[in-house]
Amino acid sequence: MHIGIDLGGTKTESIILDKAGKEIERIRKDTPKNYNGTLDTVCELVNYLEDKYKIKCSVGVGSPGALSKETNCIKGGNSTWINDRPLKKDIELRLNRKIFLENDANCFALSESYDGAGINHEIVFGVIIGTGVGGGLVINNKIVSGFNNITGEWGHNQMAEGSNDKWNRHDCYCGKKGCIETYLSGPGFSKHFFDLHNIQLDAKIIQENANNGDEKSLEFVFQYLDYFARGLSQVINIIDPGAIVLGGGVSNMKQIYGNINAKLKKYVFSDTVNTEVLKNKHGDSSGVRGAASLGR
Ligand SMILES: [Zn+2]
Repeated sequence: MHIGIDLGGTKTESIILDKAGKEIERIRKDTPKNYNGTLDTVCELVNYLEDKYKIKCSVGVGSPGALSKETNCIKGGNSTWINDRPLKKDIELRLNRKIFLENDANCFALSESYDGAGINHEIVFGVIIGTGVGGGLVINNKIVSGFNNITGEWGHNQMAEGSNDKWNRHDCYCGKKGCIETYLSGPGFSKHFFDLHNIQLDAKIIQENANNGDEKSLEFVFQYLDYFARGLSQVINIIDPGAIVLGGGVSNMKQIYGNINAKLKKYVFSDTVNTEVLKNKHGDSSGVRGAASLGR
């Protein structure tokens, strides 16, 4: 059987899957906001599940950030207490075995490729948009993490400029200006709505207003789709996936699914764009299922 752990900023989730990928049990715990507490939580969850089911399992961990190939430490994680720490090695020492550890967006993409929305496709790009914009690439059910461990970080490419742009280029936390993330993330969405209308609203509320037929919000959502297509066209022109599976808050934006391909045609280098842009199948469980799938 396979255990997966998803290290979130506030919750740590664990799952145990049988050989066929069926969920046997799932547990959530608060994430301690310190390094040793995080290690304790991971090991407690693994020990609890193995004791209960009396079987030694493979262990996969989905973590924010990525393992640096130079130092074997986590870099760029938004749970800052794990940054610059040898997380994989320390868990292995405590559990006394090899484990798998991958970036959480890669785990999401793997889960959706393995037995989720992207199951029929050879190349699957998983996109997670919430407070940030991330992504993961899976080819033939194998994560491609890249030479620098940054495959899929399309959120920090520059947004291509259009002729009628009215939005301002905002600073990104990465130090650049006008990154795709500053347009497409939840906070970016709300900031640009403020730029246009001088009204401060949460992305979720703007989306709800659009769904209820508010013209201003709906027009804004369609402008967003145009930016979304510009961003995704950069991904498609390089890796040309069969499926792009959406996760995070943006996957609930229902206007995407019927309209994005027409927008993509404007920006992708091809007269036809048959890429399937799909809602995820496993919802919030995708990350933890993907972590468990690392050992499948
Ligand atoms: Zn950036």
